Amino acid sequence: MENIKKTCKTCGKEFWVIKQEQEFLAKMNLHHPSSCPGCREARRLADRGERQLYRTKCQNCQKDVIVSYNPETEKRRILCKDCYLQWFEKNQVLKTE
Ligand SMILES: [Zn+2]
Ligand SMILES: [Zn+2]
Repeated sequence: MENIKKTCKTCGKEFWVIKQEQEFLAKMNLHHPSSCPGCREARRLADRGERQLYRTKCQNCQKDVIVSYNPETEKRRILCKDCYLQWFEKNQVLKTE
């Protein structure tokens, strides 16, 4: 197995997929990367920053919900979509004076 030179899809720079990495990718049944290590790392960080999701439970019906804010520090009630809609409708009614 030889090192493979590839061109990064994102920044156009050339990078190497070394033998050890090819062996690893083959073992894990993964495709060879199309972006250089720098761009891959940048994308990983961006994904982590923007789309951090937490699994928690609805405080009303205990159903599993996925939220985009940290439930540990969140002061609002955490409700699933159904409970939130019910709550919202109820409170809207009270507000219409
Ligand atoms: Zn790149
Ligand atoms: Zn609920």
